[in-house]
Amino acid sequence: MRDVYLDYSATTPVKKEVLDAMLPYFSEKFGNPSSLYRIGTESKDAISKARQQLAGLIGANEREIYFTSSGTEADNWAVISAAKAKLKKGNHIITSAIEHHAVLHTCDFLEKSGYEITYLPVNSDGLISLEELEAAITDKTTLISIMFANNEIGSVQPIKEIAAIAKKHDILFHTDAVQALGNIEIDVKDLGIDMMSVSGHKIYGPKGIGALYIRKGLIIPNYMHGGAQENNKRAGTENLTGIVGFGKAAELAGRDLSDHIAKIRELRDYFKTELCRKIDGLEINGGLDSRLPGNLNIAFQGVEGEALLLYMDVKGIAASTGSACSSATFAASHVLKALGHPLERVYCSIRFTVGDFTTKEDIDYTVGEITEIVDKLRAFSPLYKKKG
Ligand code: PLP
Repeated sequence: MRDVYLDYSATTPVKKEVLDAMLPYFSEKFGNPSSLYRIGTESKDAISKARQQLAGLIGANEREIYFTSSGTEADNWAVISAAKAKLKKGNHIITSAIEHHAVLHTCDFLEKSGYEITYLPVNSDGLISLEELEAAITDKTTLISIMFANNEIGSVQPIKEIAAIAKKHDILFHTDAVQALGNIEIDVKDLGIDMMSVSGHKIYGPKGIGALYIRKGLIIPNYMHGGAQENNKRAGTENLTGIVGFGKAAELAGRDLSDHIAKIRELRDYFKTELCRKIDGLEINGGLDSRLPGNLNIAFQGVEGEALLLYMDVKGIAASTGSACSSATFAASHVLKALGHPLERVYCSIRFTVGDFTTKEDIDYTVGEITEIVDKLRAFSPLYKKKG
């Protein structure tokens, strides 16, 4: 048996070079970045370097990067603070039905406090319609928050076009790029993004560190109140090791981006081809054209997804149904439901995500094991009728 990890969208392992960069900052280089003596200023310099590394990956200026505790905090900060900042103009926010809960539940929270939220639908490829977006805009709309790439089906939205619509109507545009970072080329200036959330643990950096890009000139209220850290914008003693690790991971992601994308796309495509060759009754969730290179979300007709996952786990294979967060709740995926699929397809679906450490041997092993498990589960399934 081998251990095969196919859940890189849930989280990624910290790369050795990242860990090596972080280690000294736990012990000998432990100074508080706000302290004025040497080990303090060394920590401050390390944070500056990380800011440059992350800014470099997304085409930003280092002064536009604010470190947070997570992608979730960055999403909360952007959505809540932008909504508050523009309250004089209006209280209407546009988002999509397939956002991560970090945005969706934040919008729920605002809705309960009197804001109006439009949840744009998506087509069966998982993409919003630009015409529907423009039609949803009112004179009270102050913020559009649409994710760059979806965490369950990997659909990549037309970000440049969305940003242009927002700009035309003088509306702020935030995008949750937690899944896109390190898997797609991102240039915030070229795309015209006002605010963008990212997270360390999806790009082979540590957990518990994120960042919000805020375009130069845009001022939104602080979300965390306290000390003067992060240029007076985000209080709290910095997560020094996390920031150093995130910076290093961003540098490596930028250095290897095109090779990484080509490699994981090839493996994902091979995986899809092999599964479809060996198993009938498969349906791919989400479109294949505008999609993250490592994502494969498949419905196995007549097979209960949770059962398949448990049998896969016994064989050492890790994947997930829905996002890491919703799989703990056993709720039907809001993303797959938004694609218009019936519940029996939603409950038969598994998300696989390949990453830098996935090998062809991992895929061959996984396809072999899944083929046997699916056969076994379908034999008991009253839902599944073999074709022919
Ligand atoms: N947004 C998206 C699209 C995600 O996939 C995730 C995590 O899965 C988050 C936000 C939350 O990021 P974090 O885990 O850093 O809070």
